[in-house]
Amino acid sequence: MAKASLTPMMEQYHKIKQQYPDAFLFYRVGDFYELFEDDAVKGAQLLELTLTHRSNKSETPIPMAGVPHVAVESYVDTLVEKGYKVALCEQLEDPKKARGMVKRGIIQLVTPGTHISDKPSQAKEVNYLASVVTTKNSFGLAYSDLSTGEMFATHLKAWSAVANELLSLRTREVIYNGHLSDSASDFLHQANITVSAPAELTETHAEISFAQQKLTNQAEKAAVAQLVAYILQTQHRSLAHLQVARSYEVSQYLQMSHTVQENLELIASAKTGKKMGSLFWVLDKTQTAMGGRLLKQWLARPLLTVAKLTNRQEMVQALLDGYFTRASVADALKGVYDLERLTGRIAFGNVNGRELLQLAHSLAAVPTIMATLQKSDSKILQDFAQKIDPLKGVAQLITATLVDQPPISTTEGNLIRASVDSQLDRYRDAMNNGKKWLMEMEKSERQQTGIDNLKVGFNSVFGYYIQVTNSNKSKVPLDRYTRKQTLSNAERYITPELKEHENLILEAQTKSTELEHDLFVKLRDEVKKYIPALQDLAAQLAAIDVYCSFAQVAEDNNYCRPSFHTDNQDVKVTLGRHPVVEQVMQAGSYIPNDVKLAEDTDIFLITGPNMSGKSTYMRQMALIAVMAQVGSFVPAASADLPIFDQIFTRIGAADDLISGQSTFMVEMTEANDALMHATKRSLVLFDEIGRGTATYDGMALAGAIVQYLHDEIGAKVLFATHFHELTAMEQTLPRLKNIHVGATEENGKLIFLHKILPGPADQSYGIHVAQLAGMPRKVLRQATKLLNRLEAQGSNLNPTSAQLDLFSVDQASQEQDAIGTAGKAERSDKEKDILDDISNLYLA
Ligand code: ADP
Repeated sequence: MAKASLTPMMEQYHKIKQQYPDAFLFYRVGDFYELFEDDAVKGAQLLELTLTHRSNKSETPIPMAGVPHVAVESYVDTLVEKGYKVALCEQLEDPKKARGMVKRGIIQLVTPGTHISDKPSQAKEVNYLASVVTTKNSFGLAYSDLSTGEMFATHLKAWSAVANELLSLRTREVIYNGHLSDSASDFLHQANITVSAPAELTETHAEISFAQQKLTNQAEKAAVAQLVAYILQTQHRSLAHLQVARSYEVSQYLQMSHTVQENLELIASAKTGKKMGSLFWVLDKTQTAMGGRLLKQWLARPLLTVAKLTNRQEMVQALLDGYFTRASVADALKGVYDLERLTGRIAFGNVNGRELLQLAHSLAAVPTIMATLQKSDSKILQDFAQKIDPLKGVAQLITATLVDQPPISTTEGNLIRASVDSQLDRYRDAMNNGKKWLMEMEKSERQQTGIDNLKVGFNSVFGYYIQVTNSNKSKVPLDRYTRKQTLSNAERYITPELKEHENLILEAQTKSTELEHDLFVKLRDEVKKYIPALQDLAAQLAAIDVYCSFAQVAEDNNYCRPSFHTDNQDVKVTLGRHPVVEQVMQAGSYIPNDVKLAEDTDIFLITGPNMSGKSTYMRQMALIAVMAQVGSFVPAASADLPIFDQIFTRIGAADDLISGQSTFMVEMTEANDALMHATKRSLVLFDEIGRGTATYDGMALAGAIVQYLHDEIGAKVLFATHFHELTAMEQTLPRLKNIHVGATEENGKLIFLHKILPGPADQSYGIHVAQLAGMPRKVLRQATKLLNRLEAQGSNLNPTSAQLDLFSVDQASQEQDAIGTAGKAERSDKEKDILDDISNLYLA
């Protein structure tokens, strides 16, 4: 399109759009935000808007779609949730006062990682914006949640570790300074993570050095600089709430890959992706959104230090013992709003009067909490209270300045109390006197004219007027009154006196609302100075909230306090339960089981029918370990635990994020992760490894993996398997023990006992389970026949050469097997490589 044909507005639009090519430009025109050209076409489709055309004699029709400015938030939400960016372009001057084109500019670039949702459903969610830099020998990673200003930094050796952190953080956007490899870029795309280019900043910014002040690692510093620069570039607003970046190393915490966290359903149910059915669901009895978010953080990063864990446990214990203390603290916390996010809004300057009062009311709850803790007879709770600064001055300042029920708007007055500012009081007097004068005038005019229903009124176009109904029109003293407006049933008049007072009243009113706004901003700026202190307070309240929650859950569910030892890796859990499964079962119907991986036992090889509880038993162990290492009490009669450094899982057929891999491939990748990285101090859960391939190589692999874990690693392992042949390994591997989940048969019906018993299972009951599932009788009969024939030829528990023959007796079944695996007959090269690697591991 030739430039000459553009109107000045479109010219301005293009100039701004050029700077934000990868964002939807929401261009404010009056009460609408307009999208033009390609943005309009695409936006109309994504947002279900009507696509129109702007046509002007001098230009070719331009595609256009608009959204009303009052509803803009939901449209921005929709686009950003889909991974797009939105540049909000505002009118920077009053169009009425503008000479020529109204000045416009971008006030904010909303991106997936910088988006702050006000939806209540998002209160316990965090939205991290991440930044990755590549340096010579490591990756720097930094991330921040813009709503709270919290910031973290770490450095990692491999891209796979970075990818894992990004997934664990559930980040939606990453700023990256380098060139992404194809696989990295595929990975980010699949994980629905938007990649953004770093901002180009020309000057130095205090915010950057502030955020970096505690960092020593160069890669971390660079990542933080890149992060803050991007935030500065997109936000165009005060960032006083950005916190000093906290450095950590992943090895300081119990490490679990993102897949492990998902498999264990720590934060969300694997089936639904929702909180319900997760460990978080069981443990979260927090009263505040801050507490909920902190608990999530803890679950993602369990601790390794006994001293820190003991400290958390002591807090939980004290709140468990002190029922009244806990009840009263929890009750007070109910009145505490989301201080962390409120401080964000204070920094951004978009906090209103009501929210400042929310802050004051939240602060008002703090002295109660402190007093309750101090009154308790627990030293640790008293000490905790001692460290809290209730910021009484801030609360007082707010409540003394603002009226009890301020409006949402901060520009229309009625915000500030009387006697806060003498000038404001004078304006208000003038307004009140003026209004009093009007009332008196109405009275005296009625008397003078004899018009009883004469009224003084106000409208925004004509200001104050005197209204007389048509029937009384003849009585109007036209020497004093000037006619201003005619209605169907009345006339409106003005007098010079009336206008004089109108001026006084309106001037006082304008000035007073302006002054009120100024005073409000002053108050807000004053509160802004306390942001770091408010953030500290918020952190303490979040922590006590989580401790109360742990205590509550421990009491409700009869948990015990685990003890830790560091001199060996013995696991001794008596009568352990699965924290989530027991919640969804009828009270008391969960069968508790011991886990005694101690005294020379490292590996439990678990057999038992399908649906008997093998997987529940294994997960139970992992969840107990995680709960213990976040400081929670655990579902058991007693638990004496080591500190685990890592947890590995290969559980079920969870869908993998990095799709395109066969189930078997995923299985092998996860298994390999454990074989490569597990240590003596790790916990490994393998459920039916080798199931995804043909029976014999599956069994061979499973056996080889068990042996490798036993001989080379020495981790604590729970290994559930269908391959009864593997139980023979107990004879050769001294640190391996067979256990099984009990089941009995009564009148041909299978009964699950869900009880863990020593030794291998004697039957697999597969056919019974198939029967329970309602499989056709014909299939069941044929299976029984086959089974009998197999058993007649040798024990199914011992892997002998006879078994190879067994599988060949029945031509039909062999063919069936061939059909069943036909799809997998051709292995990919990658799969072959992995298999080779694994067999090399132990054949060598
Ligand atoms: P498997 O892994 O052996 O196929 P699961 O662990 O999936 O079996 O358990 C199947 C079902 O059995 C669970 O969903 C649960 O309802 C029930 N279950 C498992 N363990 C127990 C237990 N200890 N007490 C009561 N019910 C249990």
